[in-house]
Amino acid sequence: MYKLLKKDGNAKRGELHTVHGVIQTPVFMNVGTAAAIKGAVSTEDLEQIGTQVELSNTYHLHVRPGDTVIKKLGGLHKFMSWNRPILTDSGGFQVFSLAGLRKIKEEGVYFQSHIDGRKIFMGPEESMQIQSNLASTIAMAFDECPSSRADRDYVQRSVDRTVRWLVRCKTEMERLNSLPDTINPNQLLFGINQGAIFEDIRIEHAQRIAELDLPGYAIGGLAVGETHEEMYHIIETVAPHLPENKPVYLMGVGTPANILEAVDRGVDFFDCVYPSRNGRHGHVYTNHGKLNLFNAKYELDDRPIEEGCGCPACRRYSRAYIRHLLKAKEMLGMRLCVLHNLYFYNHMMEEIRDAIDQGRYQEYKKQKLSGVLAKNI
Ligand SMILES: [Zn+2]
Repeated sequence: MYKLLKKDGNAKRGELHTVHGVIQTPVFMNVGTAAAIKGAVSTEDLEQIGTQVELSNTYHLHVRPGDTVIKKLGGLHKFMSWNRPILTDSGGFQVFSLAGLRKIKEEGVYFQSHIDGRKIFMGPEESMQIQSNLASTIAMAFDECPSSRADRDYVQRSVDRTVRWLVRCKTEMERLNSLPDTINPNQLLFGINQGAIFEDIRIEHAQRIAELDLPGYAIGGLAVGETHEEMYHIIETVAPHLPENKPVYLMGVGTPANILEAVDRGVDFFDCVYPSRNGRHGHVYTNHGKLNLFNAKYELDDRPIEEGCGCPACRRYSRAYIRHLLKAKEMLGMRLCVLHNLYFYNHMMEEIRDAIDQGRYQEYKKQKLSGVLAKNI
């Protein structure tokens, strides 16, 4: 399972052994919402840009094409032709943020599909069954992510229910993993810490879920409107109460600077839509700040997005050409920017791992932060 290889301050360097291969941590997972990274990026591309883990969204795949369809086709790995690890979220976040009219009950959530309005029910058991059909490497627990503005009473009641839901998730996953027709009988379940910005609720919840001895734990409900300082504070408050010999996953975060700070507080796993979403808008990351390739100053710029970058865009194409493609709305423009940005994130994680291995994380973090925070757009 997870092997803690080294610590540099609170920064952890580890390995998660799975049936789909070893994940070197800290790691950034590349987000392919509906089993593809938006921006016409193929699984072959992902291999080229150093992607270790692909993340897909359970809710989207459940609604379309349907998890039973994917199961009939041999599971998500076979369906999208990707043989490295895949993490699926629980569907909870989308149910709570995307779906129309919803009702939360002890058994789960009743809601309407955002595609065709049909009524759907999802509870812990349903979420585990869908993720088992998808046969991802890592399944996430079904939880409620209360708003960062919710009052204390609401958050406490929600977190108590999330603990009960986690116990049900664990029982159901064990049952599913023991069935003869389960595609991935070694599917791993990660629990999720919640509690909005209430420190004591977060800590008590972390301690309760740590007792369940799951293969990994996530910190959820952050990057939803609180300040960066509040977020860092919650991470350093919660991380010491999660088992050190298990991976810690900070869900949906964030910018390169957020990742550098969170690694420093003991986080192993990350995911975020920023690199692909920004890439689709011509915003690209470099070690000299973010560039907006739509700017006129790149019209005659024949340099790559970043000198020395090993991504498929920089190895071959100029800023001027990619800018032209973006302005002409050629899909290739978007695609090249997304490939560069994901490579930038994946490569940064490799640098982070090397720095921790060599015991120079603080020095590396300082130098990288001054680069990525430079104003260049
Ligand atoms: Zn590049």
